[in-house]
Amino acid sequence: MGTRFRPRGFIRRTATGLSPAAAAAGRAAVERDLGARASRLVEAASDRLRERRHPSRPTMRALVMAGGGRLAWRTVPAPPPPGPDGALVRPIAVATCDLDRALALGATPFPLPVNMGHECVAEVLAVGDNVTSVRPGQQVCVPFQINCGACVKCLAGHTSNCLAVPPLSMYGFGAGGGHWGGALAEQLAVPYADAMLLPLPDGVEPVAAASVSDTICDAYRHIGPHLPAMLRRDPDTEVLIIAAFTPRALFAASVPLYAGQVALALGARRVRLVDVRPHVRAAAQRLGITALRPSELRRVPPAPLVVAASATSRGMWEAMKKTAPDGVCSSVGGLYRAGRMPMALLYGRNASLSVSRTHARALMPEVLELMATGRFRPEEVVTTRGTFDQAPRLLGEHYRGDDIKTIVTA
Ligand SMILES: [Zn+2]
Ligand SMILES: [Zn+2]
Repeated sequence: MGTRFRPRGFIRRTATGLSPAAAAAGRAAVERDLGARASRLVEAASDRLRERRHPSRPTMRALVMAGGGRLAWRTVPAPPPPGPDGALVRPIAVATCDLDRALALGATPFPLPVNMGHECVAEVLAVGDNVTSVRPGQQVCVPFQINCGACVKCLAGHTSNCLAVPPLSMYGFGAGGGHWGGALAEQLAVPYADAMLLPLPDGVEPVAAASVSDTICDAYRHIGPHLPAMLRRDPDTEVLIIAAFTPRALFAASVPLYAGQVALALGARRVRLVDVRPHVRAAAQRLGITALRPSELRRVPPAPLVVAASATSRGMWEAMKKTAPDGVCSSVGGLYRAGRMPMALLYGRNASLSVSRTHARALMPEVLELMATGRFRPEEVVTTRGTFDQAPRLLGEHYRGDDIKTIVTA
């Protein structure tokens, strides 16, 4: 079964090729170890070729997005049995990422084709001899970034920059992520099981935790490290989340909504979210977040904690201007090459600016702990649910429409 996603209007224009800014972001991210990256890709390509000529392993299905918006199940070789530190897992709940639409359109630094899916809860099928923290049959959260747990970066909690693997080693990003496979498949190989996998806590459902792999941690990082101390100093500390300023935003809105949920779960009395898209404002209101149009931002006072989640330079500018004295402006990131900065204002207000990528695995324990309390329920952000068999159609609809989060289960 396959589906063809035909981009229209602005999406078609955006998707006509990789923008120079996106290319620049990709280059910056892979500055380290280009040689290791090249050999990883050569190794993966030779394995595929070998398996095609002389198959030695069983095959499985994997959902592949090819150029021109062709999304279909393909038959591919199953991963080899795990090495001594590895595990083999079966994804059971797989979520879309806010970046998926841009990724599927070829509007990111990651070229197509891509084995889709990098957010999942999985069941452990087999583990290597050295693995002690998980066992077959357990349900586990799988971080989207590959990390070893033992290098200086991993030990410092900078798991997205693990030195044991090439830069940007991730599931579900095709060759650009180092060909580690995608979660929309029957099996996934986890090279460092003890370092990467975390058992699902009791009472937390796979559908609720599917996005812990990436987008939930990507939202938590803006709130968890800052808000508790701010609330201890001032229980009325407000959080302001700046999301889309243009209705043509390429990115889905789960990260800004999760950030709002986390802020409320940690005790914020008021969380405001600015987004031009009516469906995102409606979702925010349902979650107890005060939703505003961009035109209403003028009336909003500067907040001690601002999340810049628009991925545009205009949104970044507004977020920095709305950061209160001694406050923090935390940026989700963006693929634009450069932007303006209200330097004198930030200096005068003694504001801190953080621009970073998420270190998913380092944040996963805190996130799962908060979910286990029942105060943070990310499943309330899910807009579409279905089965693996329905994935081509549901993902096609996700790329086309106003869907915020689709989750498919095996
Ligand atoms: Zn993602
Ligand atoms: Zn490492």
